[in-house]
Amino acid sequence: AQEFKDQPEGESSESTEDTEETGQSKGEISFLQKLLRTRLVQAKADIEVLRKDPTSPLYSVKSFEALHLKPELLKGVYDMGFNAPSKIQETALPTLLADPPCNMIAQSQSGTGKTAAFTLTMLSRVDVALDYPQCLCLAPTYELALQIGEVTREMSKHMTGLQISLAVRAQKVARGEQLASHVIIGTPGTVMDWAFKFKAFDIKKVRVFVLDEADVMISQQGHQDQSTRLQRALSPDCQMLLFSATYDADVMSFAEKVIPRDPVVIKLRREEESLENIRQYYIECSNQQDKFQALSNIYSAISIGQSMIFCATRKTASWLAEKMTGDGHAVGLLSGELDIEMRASIIKRFRDGKEKVLITTNVSARGIDVEQVTVVVNFDLPMTRDLQPDCETYLHRIGRTGRFGKSGLAINFVDGKRSMNTLKYIEKHFGRKINKLDADDLDAIE
Ligand code: ADP
Repeated sequence: AQEFKDQPEGESSESTEDTEETGQSKGEISFLQKLLRTRLVQAKADIEVLRKDPTSPLYSVKSFEALHLKPELLKGVYDMGFNAPSKIQETALPTLLADPPCNMIAQSQSGTGKTAAFTLTMLSRVDVALDYPQCLCLAPTYELALQIGEVTREMSKHMTGLQISLAVRAQKVARGEQLASHVIIGTPGTVMDWAFKFKAFDIKKVRVFVLDEADVMISQQGHQDQSTRLQRALSPDCQMLLFSATYDADVMSFAEKVIPRDPVVIKLRREEESLENIRQYYIECSNQQDKFQALSNIYSAISIGQSMIFCATRKTASWLAEKMTGDGHAVGLLSGELDIEMRASIIKRFRDGKEKVLITTNVSARGIDVEQVTVVVNFDLPMTRDLQPDCETYLHRIGRTGRFGKSGLAINFVDGKRSMNTLKYIEKHFGRKINKLDADDLDAIE
């Protein structure tokens, strides 16, 4: 496990951010990331598989047909536009669908196809003729549970009679009510109420138990305890599965606690971000107004697809948004004080191309990577709270995983000595030249 130093994105600096924003952020980031993700993340690294019994055959599949799914389920999968299993699905699915069922712990970064893998597992094991809950899936937040519900609904659209219940706040069951749905997806607290307080279903009859986003789940002690209590109430022959985007000691010790009996452990190493294909520039300015002027020059000089602009504070971000809007740009402003619905809608609009510019602060953009963004502007260079150069954040904003080989453009504004020193520090840290650009003569960019 030593080699997997995979930390959740921005983990090291997370604790220095405003608590009001981070108290909820892990689950929120995960959800916003899913919203942004319109397609599969292509992984190049090899899958690592650990299991106690190396004599049991482990094979992988290159097609969905090879899994011998129910025809109506296969049809659902194809209707979603999935032609072939993703990297993690190739290895996980044969084991997930094997009989007798086998427990699994699987880790791979967001967007690699985990949700689709366990949804498929639940749906292939469910018997629509039996009118009681047979699959139970736990997610850390309301939004994430709804999202899984949507995927499950879509994938099962040809499975006549399949019923899904969402066990999330605001969904009530009546005392004495017995659920006839086949799949329950929900957050741990509400699922506990349904199972233990209202006895709306018999947890002993659950055949497949999924704990998704384990790394987000353990960031809340309450969720951890509730998940453990639910898991303990399951029948010992229930198939138990745990998924996580990150892999560290805390996640693993929780995983091993809730997934008993020698689970197969599957890990997919995260792709490293790099500055390989990125052209980096800096522009010297004397003040904020000057930076805005330089920005205007850039937008009129070069054709920019979609761009993100990072500011140090909410105040600068909203000031800039106003100025740019005044100049006729369609800009979105993503800011930490907005609630999750508002942020989701701004991100969706940007993803759908309704706005070409997204202005944001560090906090609200944490963990959000927008694949179609070709230009990143550091209106302010990233600094840690104690005003040190923040190289990690710089890389997150600008770096790309080599997967698409797309080239990008990064423009950094420098005003004064401190930011110049920061720039030089970052340049040295990554060993890649950041070229000077004259704001009045931008020919060098192209
Ligand atoms: P994760 O749970 O690891 O974040 P998802 O299962 O949500 O990943 O998949 C990420 C994106 O890729 C989703 O938009 C999903 O619809 C899509 N996807 C998943 N599996 C496949 C596949 N085999 N082929 C094409 N797209 C897929």
